[in-house]
Amino acid sequence: MTRFDIAIAGCGPAGLAAALLLHRQGHRVTLFERFEEPRPIGSGLMIQPSGLAVLEALGLAAEIFAHGAPIRALHGLNHQGDVALDARYTDLGVPEACGIGIHRGSLFAILYRAVMAEGIAIETGFPVAASSLHAGGRTLTSDDGRTTPRFDLVVDALGTSSPLAPPCGEWLAFGALWATLDWPEGAPFDTGLLEQRYTHAAQMAGVLPTGTRVDGARRELSFFWSLKASEHDRWRGAGLAAWKAQVCALWPDCDGLLDQIAEPEKLTFARYAHRRVAEPVGERLIHIGDAWHSASPQLGQGANMALLDAFALARGLETDGELAERLAYAARLRRRHVKLYQALTWAATPLYQSDKVWHALLRDFLLAPLGRVTPGPSIQARLVAGLVGNPLGPLGLSLPDYEALAR
Ligand SMILES: Cc1cc2nc3c(=O)[nH]c(=O)nc-3n(C[C@H](O)[C@H](O)[C@H](O)COP(=O)(O)OP(=O)(O)OC[C@H]3O[C@@H](n4cnc5c(N)ncnc54)[C@H](O)[C@@H]3O)c2cc1C
Repeated sequence: MTRFDIAIAGCGPAGLAAALLLHRQGHRVTLFERFEEPRPIGSGLMIQPSGLAVLEALGLAAEIFAHGAPIRALHGLNHQGDVALDARYTDLGVPEACGIGIHRGSLFAILYRAVMAEGIAIETGFPVAASSLHAGGRTLTSDDGRTTPRFDLVVDALGTSSPLAPPCGEWLAFGALWATLDWPEGAPFDTGLLEQRYTHAAQMAGVLPTGTRVDGARRELSFFWSLKASEHDRWRGAGLAAWKAQVCALWPDCDGLLDQIAEPEKLTFARYAHRRVAEPVGERLIHIGDAWHSASPQLGQGANMALLDAFALARGLETDGELAERLAYAARLRRRHVKLYQALTWAATPLYQSDKVWHALLRDFLLAPLGRVTPGPSIQARLVAGLVGNPLGPLGLSLPDYEALAR
């Protein structure tokens, strides 16, 4: 097989997974990252069965399991106490199947340590600004004008705001405040549920168990509160006490939990973009993960899609033919699933984040009841598991053996 010199820009899930897979195929891989000390930003996320299949192929699923929290269902109640969301992984019909709530830092640490252990080259403190073609190769240039040697291929895994990808899509009006909090002993929350509470779709609070972090000692959770970007300043101005009263009016169980938030800085505001680069492959260039496509995290798919993209890239590069053909094949393996989940997330997000009451009425009085009658439960489970559109089959992946992992 041809050995390529590959630059991977970005040490998120997409970049780190791609580095491991391509290094193991025998390519010469160098990672580039803006931070001096690579680190993840943000709170918890869900590893779905689709993403865990990739992590299992990487030999990392057991560690993910050890540091995450098995989530058996997504469960949401509206402000009147009616069930508005009840998606259960058991409805996949796979024994012990679950999602895994995990701190972003744990996912990062597990992938990063594997990269380090395999001696993959990494250049930190390199904020990528551009990439250009030079005499049969491609280089990266940093913000301060440093240019790398030529590579056969540049993999853009720089996330939503990648400077290597053409501008496209839009920032969504709603984002959310996120905090990592200790799991309170005797908490009125269920360790196996991602729980949400809604006032129509205008307000949403959520609790995601995230297990015990790599190098951590305590169990944690991610708390999130839906907020419009345009209201972030007003939220700050109103003060924490007013906000806590608002949260507790919707979800009284949060009372003790919010004591851990003593200053607004404990909460990070995350904005979401809905965008997809129409053509992910350029000359000696491919965009993967959020650099290719990003969406609101309402369906909890982004990191999982990033892992699948990395796996598809490896599948593409192991074929015969010109580099361009291999990259085109890699993109083809993912294109349908990416488009499908972009559309599904676009449709689902306003059911949970919107000013319009009719979105919530549709959710509570049509979709939630439909989700309770066959084949609703199974469709819902496949949707949140990331499995609609059969992303694993074309990649030669299969669902992890959850029974073995749970042992
Ligand atoms: C609040 C929130 C909750 C989410 N919840 C979920 C969830 O439950 N499940 C799920 O699957 N997904 C979730 N997501 C989405 C998920 O985080 C992303 O889809 C995923 O991180 C994408 O991975 P990536 O590797 O493509 O990009 P990123 O994780 O964004 O990584 C990009 C990397 O590139 C580096 N970088 C960026 N710019 C430069 C530059 N110019 N030069 C050098 N380095 C650079 C960054 O430092 C980073 O290391 C959530 C996202 C948010 C914001």
